Amino acid sequence: MVRQLCRSFNEGAGVHRVLDGADGRFLPGEVVAIVGRSGSGKSTLLNLVSGIDRPDSGEVQIGGRIVTSMREPERTLFRRANLGFVYQFFNLLPTLDVEENVRLPLELNGTRGAAARRRSAAILTEIGLGDRLHSAVDRLSGGEQQRVAIARALVHGPAVVLADEPTGNLDEETASQVLRVLLALTRSRGATLLIVTHDAWLARSADRVLELREGKLAPCEAALGPRGTAGREHAGDAGPRGIDCGRTPARRTGPS
Ligand code: ADP
Ligand code: MG
Repeated sequence: MVRQLCRSFNEGAGVHRVLDGADGRFLPGEVVAIVGRSGSGKSTLLNLVSGIDRPDSGEVQIGGRIVTSMREPERTLFRRANLGFVYQFFNLLPTLDVEENVRLPLELNGTRGAAARRRSAAILTEIGLGDRLHSAVDRLSGGEQQRVAIARALVHGPAVVLADEPTGNLDEETASQVLRVLLALTRSRGATLLIVTHDAWLARSADRVLELREGKLAPCEAALGPRGTAGREHAGDAGPRGIDCGRTPARRTGPS
């Protein structure tokens, strides 16, 4: 849950208010797509939810714990145990092989040795990479690397998974595969997924779509599937696979 989140950045002589009282309540197991034009504060919002950044005011609560009141190192430990992340540029560690990358969150949470190896191998097998366990990550295609990153985000059973434009660096067909894997894994594990994306399939598959606009989160009516989009005269600027929420055309920055 996020409550009245505010975050501003100093910009030259002035102050740029990026989040201005963003409110949102997310249920356990819910898949929520977050849209908004470039620069609207989507990454800022996810960084506050994850505890990587701190708000000027407002609160982030996960599983009854108030993340925004935690100090280091409690916040880092909480993040490691309860959250998973998928980024646009994969962020795998090149010095570790595929299985070691996925095993890392388990080890950081205290699961080691054969038990950790079994779990990382099992989740990689589940997403079709069981024959690549000991490949160097830079030998994999972009889509394969992102699937590894998805396995890494979910292997330790986090309550919340945050994905920030996870297909922004992938072609359309690969993006679609990757989103299906991400959705299947989060659904099967009952994790809450907050995903920044303009992908229309994901928007239809999500439980809700929210738009970040003028620093606040609001329901995105146009994204509610064929019924929601049927009466619209223009598909907007978002392209055939994109969605936009009507008033502010979503400007897409990547091929996703
Ligand atoms: P989005 O992810 O929706 O494209 P961001 O959350 O990355 O947008 O950024 C929102 C706005 O906040 C942008 O104008 C960006 O320049 C600004 N911003 C984000 N992070 C910082 C920072 N660390 N310092 C200064 N400005 C920032
Ligand atoms: Mg962003």
